[in-house]
Amino acid sequence: MNFELLVDLHINEYRQGPGSDAETLKALSFVDFAQKENLKVADIGCGTGASTICLAKKLNAKITAVDLFSQFLDILKNNAEKAGLDNIETLEASMTELPLEEDSFDILWSEGAIYNMGFTEGVKQWKKYLKKGGYLCVSEITWTTAERSKEINDYWNEAYPEVGTAGEKIKVLEANGYSPVGYFYLNQNSWIEEYYKPLINSFPTFLEKHNHSEDAKLIVAETQAEIDLYMKHKEEYSYGFYVAKRVL
Ligand code: SAM
Repeated sequence: MNFELLVDLHINEYRQGPGSDAETLKALSFVDFAQKENLKVADIGCGTGASTICLAKKLNAKITAVDLFSQFLDILKNNAEKAGLDNIETLEASMTELPLEEDSFDILWSEGAIYNMGFTEGVKQWKKYLKKGGYLCVSEITWTTAERSKEINDYWNEAYPEVGTAGEKIKVLEANGYSPVGYFYLNQNSWIEEYYKPLINSFPTFLEKHNHSEDAKLIVAETQAEIDLYMKHKEEYSYGFYVAKRVL
């Protein structure tokens, strides 16, 4: 995988994965202390910060926006400045080794990113950064039907063996000291209008910028194949949004 090209394909997009401000706020509505002041929040795998900025506008909070790639964080900083927000700090770090204070966060947020370390591992490792009673709010690829076609089943089991139903994900949360308080899955608008359409529109400029190199063409072809598969099987999977309280 050519990470430099992958970052470059996504860097001019508002989102690097499916989602929307409306669904970020819907997940936030499950957090019963969201009106409190001086909250401490981290957005893990924030990309260029669509959810970070949405949360920063809504909450009275200091938000630490974490991503592996400084290029994404630079754009986030610029967007936050343009929006007049001064409650976001960025942190270039891996989600597997977060240099964060333990037992200190009110909310850990993560949209479309936990799969990079795996849902179970993320749920386990991140809990220590939350205060008791704090919330984990995380979106994760999820089957939306009990049975599904072989094509999509094989694709996701190969790409991400942890793919599962909401029931399976909720079990993982319960087994690791969380009490789930909310679940819904992202609507198709959050995939198509918010994420895939802008991405498709960026393909020609991206290819031109990279002189139609084989690597650039390959990334575009793989992304298009992922989009085609989603359009064919969009009733069978989505990102599930899970909101769970740390109880242990
Ligand atoms: N949350 C953003 C959004 O919804 O627009 C970005 C989602 S994107 C699908 C996944 C993000 O995870 C990317 O920004 C990527 O750089 C980041 N990422 C990948 N591996 C990571 C790691 N090990 N630690 C921190 N961030 C990582």
